[in-house]
Amino acid sequence: MSEAGPVAGRIEPGVMRRATLLASLAAAAAAPAVAAGGPGDADLIVTAKTIHTSDPHAPSAQAFAVRDGSFVYVGSRDGARAFRGARTKSLDLGEATVLPGLIDAHLHFMHVGLALHEVELAHSTTFDEVVRRTAAFAASSPDAWIIGDGWDQNLWPDKAFPTHAALSAALPDKPVVLNRVDGHAVLANAKAMALAGVDASTADPSGGRIVRDEHGAPTGVFVDNAMALIRRAMPPPSHEQLVRASVASLAECHRWGLTSIGDPGVDQTYLDAYTELARVGRYTLRNHTMLAGSDDALVARYLPRGPQPWSSDGRLAIRAIKLYADGALGSRGAALLAPYDDDPGNRGLLLTPQAKIQDVTTRALRAGFQVCTHAIGDRGNRNVLDAYEAALRAAPATDHRLRIEHAQVLSPDDVPRFARLGIIPSMQTMHQISDMGWAQTRLGAQRVLGAYAWRSLLDTGAQIANGTDAPIEVVDTRRTFHAAVTRENEANQPPGGWYPHQRMTRTEALASMTLWAARSNFAEHISGSISTGKYADFAVLDRDWMRVAPDEVMATRFLATYSSGRAVYETPLTKTAQHAFRPRRRGGTSCCGAHG
Ligand SMILES: [Zn+2]
Repeated sequence: MSEAGPVAGRIEPGVMRRATLLASLAAAAAAPAVAAGGPGDADLIVTAKTIHTSDPHAPSAQAFAVRDGSFVYVGSRDGARAFRGARTKSLDLGEATVLPGLIDAHLHFMHVGLALHEVELAHSTTFDEVVRRTAAFAASSPDAWIIGDGWDQNLWPDKAFPTHAALSAALPDKPVVLNRVDGHAVLANAKAMALAGVDASTADPSGGRIVRDEHGAPTGVFVDNAMALIRRAMPPPSHEQLVRASVASLAECHRWGLTSIGDPGVDQTYLDAYTELARVGRYTLRNHTMLAGSDDALVARYLPRGPQPWSSDGRLAIRAIKLYADGALGSRGAALLAPYDDDPGNRGLLLTPQAKIQDVTTRALRAGFQVCTHAIGDRGNRNVLDAYEAALRAAPATDHRLRIEHAQVLSPDDVPRFARLGIIPSMQTMHQISDMGWAQTRLGAQRVLGAYAWRSLLDTGAQIANGTDAPIEVVDTRRTFHAAVTRENEANQPPGGWYPHQRMTRTEALASMTLWAARSNFAEHISGSISTGKYADFAVLDRDWMRVAPDEVMATRFLATYSSGRAVYETPLTKTAQHAFRPRRRGGTSCCGAHG
């Protein structure tokens, strides 16, 4: 274990309890450190029918021992017995399956948490329902502004845009902003419009529209660029809101078996919230943060300090910069080499000039930083590969781990460049499921063969770091694994998978969510496999992802998640398992979701 590895006797959290967390921060800071054991005594010995380690040299085990938050033994039940002492706890998981703590290489951690503090309006079937849900949410929300998401008037009887009257009557004193399902319109109440200084005299901005009544007064709906008229009045989230969002996001990650993430696009306010929680031992994920490259001052502040690998007991790393090359495929913003099949003349948008990507990358490499650049279209990806290649010539680095986020549509000529240049494709297998209904319409039958091309990349020797891009997608790691091995959606459509020759094997899919993702986060020495010397991060499933029928993956359940040897998510079944744990057979564990 390197010096960045576990340290004996540090304070570690128990089960995360969202509601009581803030109140207990001070008490936790004063809690005694974990007592050190005698020589040979483990804190915990775990046995299970199936333990997949993700260690290519010893892919399965029957037992492991944990001391001071790290694995000190991985192997047989007999071998683990030698680590039993008077104070060693035993956790016999019976028929359950243990995986290494899962890693999402691309998850917007703060946005996941903030979204959990917005009112969910998707699938509302009337505007009355929207108003009711919003008022009920606002009654218990401490936030100054009430934010909602997901309304769609096409699901309502009259299919007409709403007006603010009923919403303003229900919530006269609190500003409310409700985002339409596609993010291209908002509904504001009267209080929000008043705070924003918007009234009948306000002109429509270019590229935007204020929907008005017959007297010219705003109805509350603001379309496209007009949304900014309302949003600019909203205060940025307070430090307390960011801490609260972080706590909610931790719980959401842990309930899907995640113990580590890569976090694209963080700013100083996010880092402040993470650091505050880490300082008191309450930041229970390992977060490889990627600084927002659009924030020049932030980058200028951190580059000269050099990489900060895994401080705060392996919780936070600051050594990466996130850039954007192009837009997204759905809105035809992804930059393509040839025009869109369904929009001749449009080749998409380049958001950052290639010269700037090259310049930032060169400076980053000289400072020991990694660069992770969003690229969706084949032109976006080629530009980034060209920029990275030029930067590597200017500032040669042996272990740079430059990443391309999404790497979604690739020209066949560019596929081998990833492995050759050592560039990591950071892909989200769930995106293929979400996009397969229309991707070919955008790209055409030939170009689509280079889209979501996992097998093509793997065959060149590249290692794919998997993730979700949550909250763009849900955090649910089962979907990521299921998509990777089937290329079918949850309803198992299309049967046999969409361009199924690009599927991953189960071993590859697990590696993409553990060891390969760890490597993309400069963390394979502390995480990514159940191996002696690494942090004792692991997840417990009721059934074995590596053996169940593919269409049963979505029916598996997480029973517990451990970080540094401590439970950060538990169900009632595993809480009692330290004595005798016999999971019920199929379907019997669905009652046990303590976190919903
Ligand atoms: Zn993203």
